[in-house]
Amino acid sequence: MNKNSGFRISDSLISWYSVNKRDLPWRETGDPYCIWISEIILQQTRVNQGYDYYLRFIQRFPSVKVLAGASEDEVLKYWQGLGYYSRARNLHKAAKRIASSFNGVFPREYHDVIALSGVGDYTAAAICSLAYNQPYAVVDGNVYRVLSRLFGIATPINSTKGKKEFAGLAQELIDKKHPALYNQAIMDFGALMCTPASPKCGDCPLQAACKAYELKRQEYFPVKENKSNVTNRYFNYLFVNHASDTYLKKRGEKDIWAGLYEFPLIEAGKLLSGEELLQDGNFQRLFGGVDVELHRFSTPVKHKLSHRLIEAQFILLRIDNETPLLKEYLRVPLSRLQDYPVSRLISLFLENGGVSF
Ligand code: SF4
Repeated sequence: MNKNSGFRISDSLISWYSVNKRDLPWRETGDPYCIWISEIILQQTRVNQGYDYYLRFIQRFPSVKVLAGASEDEVLKYWQGLGYYSRARNLHKAAKRIASSFNGVFPREYHDVIALSGVGDYTAAAICSLAYNQPYAVVDGNVYRVLSRLFGIATPINSTKGKKEFAGLAQELIDKKHPALYNQAIMDFGALMCTPASPKCGDCPLQAACKAYELKRQEYFPVKENKSNVTNRYFNYLFVNHASDTYLKKRGEKDIWAGLYEFPLIEAGKLLSGEELLQDGNFQRLFGGVDVELHRFSTPVKHKLSHRLIEAQFILLRIDNETPLLKEYLRVPLSRLQDYPVSRLISLFLENGGVSF
């Protein structure tokens, strides 16, 4: 397809959209706050899964001011299960910034929007176009797919060159009179029509102009550089039972799951056996001087994150006396565990009967 046919592309996409658009709650609003929340949720989450989270989040935190006034623990609790928790922490941080610097009113200018924590090119363009009808083209996974197929572009979409090339092309194609409509149209078109597997080329209004269709190479586009660099980590979690209580700690800022709670952790080069655990220096420091009854080892589980594979096991153990080091942990009644935001790995363990000793 020739870039000069941009007008026709946007026209075709908008008329396709007027008949086929998805019915989504954040489409019914021009409120930048709601658009912001929905876009952050949908960054790494499918619409089906994100839908309920969005409704619950907006119900509890209906405005920037309410979100800014909430505790980080509560915000993380509402995010629990969605993963990529830095998104929730950044939302909270940005809400506080809007409350303090913009008197709680969501900023209108692109440079103010993109300066908010956790807001990148895509989200800033989505907010400014969808809420304020400003002509900023969005480039998400759907847009990459549609444009790479239409124009037969083989530049890797995750390379610096590719990002620049696609951003420039998207900006050339946007309908400057109807940016909100155009952006939503191309994203829905990618999600429903020009899908990753089995695109519906037979019904596609852009078929005659599509390079990938002409070459019968739809599955080849978009091209991605292989950057996979997965590291393995081994988590031995100690689920301690002491007089109907257990122990938790908040994870630090510099690692995965920052701000979430977890059981005392022995991270090692492998999953440890009972004997290895009893000889582990960190374990001995934690429980030095008290009797520990190793009660049960959970079945090992594998938990995949974007660049890490976590292998984990939960070791249920009983103690009758608290040690000085354990006093540095948060002592929590077993019946209150669900009040704390935890990783999906831990919540699955708890849902699967982890608390029964
Ligand atoms: S013809 Fe097929 S590959 Fe090309 S834009 Fe349409 S749906 Fe996508």
